[in-house]
Amino acid sequence: MEKITMAHGSGGKSGAELMARIFGKHFKNEILDKMEDAAVLEINGRIAFSTDTFVVTPTIFEGGDIGKLCICGTVNDLLMMGAVPKYLTCGFVLEEGLDVELLDKIVESMAATAKKAGVTIVAGDTKVVEGHGGLFINTTGIGIIPEGRDISASNCKTGDKLILSGTLGDHHACILSARMNVENNIKSDCAVLAPICNALFDGGIEVRTMRDVTRGGLGTILNEIARSSSVHINLEEESIPVSDEVSGFCGIMGLDPLYMGNEGKMIIVVPGEKAEKALELVRGTEEGKNAAIIGTVTEEKKASVTMTTRLGGSRIVDVLYGEGLPRIC
Ligand code: MG
Repeated sequence: MEKITMAHGSGGKSGAELMARIFGKHFKNEILDKMEDAAVLEINGRIAFSTDTFVVTPTIFEGGDIGKLCICGTVNDLLMMGAVPKYLTCGFVLEEGLDVELLDKIVESMAATAKKAGVTIVAGDTKVVEGHGGLFINTTGIGIIPEGRDISASNCKTGDKLILSGTLGDHHACILSARMNVENNIKSDCAVLAPICNALFDGGIEVRTMRDVTRGGLGTILNEIARSSSVHINLEEESIPVSDEVSGFCGIMGLDPLYMGNEGKMIIVVPGEKAEKALELVRGTEEGKNAAIIGTVTEEKKASVTMTTRLGGSRIVDVLYGEGLPRIC
């Protein structure tokens, strides 16, 4: 089995050969193929610009791999600002001993996901370091925000409704299961969220806020939104979708789905009177078919989150403290 060696990162012949054989083959496009020192892009108007680094282990998991994840993660962050994702760069840090066939598979998965998301990979870099055959990928992306679109965590108002696009905890539970050798059917929800965003915008919904529910989980993200908008948010525990399998897994492990990371779920805040229509549009997409209205913005000038429990009580939903599971994304 061919392995990555320090020579692949030397800037010499074997590095160039590897570039052509793997990155050149899968990422081929007009801008990248010019092989200049930097990509030259024509962009007009407001842009969203985001970066994220992916260190997940295992690198291949049920429902995805680090290649799919590193495209979804950055593309979704651009989408959450109402942007149309356009261009990505990617930086690879390869550890010596990495299986070349595995790298090829991951890069192929990146290319397929980028194609699906409608983004072009326009620049990249590779470094090789000593290590144990792993890899890390950074992706940075640019999206164009269409005129008139104003989406921000600070836009929420009293009476707004919160829509969660699907079940909580799938990605987190999947990675944790793999790491602990627990056999189950839990799959990562890793997905590009563009179909949901497009359905909402094409349907004429005035979206106030969108956030993908990643590291820190729903609890942490809603606290960030409550703080940005200076509002109080109340959730209805009963309406929060969690699959039976993830719910069972969380019960055994003592985990709370409210603080588990996803890679293909989002929270959408819309004016109360538009909530039913928005829900219908989200549910019309494959990615959002299990969506539900899970809460309401109830008060202004009070940045906090509570939840009405199944038994009718009320609990404070705080941010995640301390260590979540490391290397889930
Ligand atoms: Mg995000």
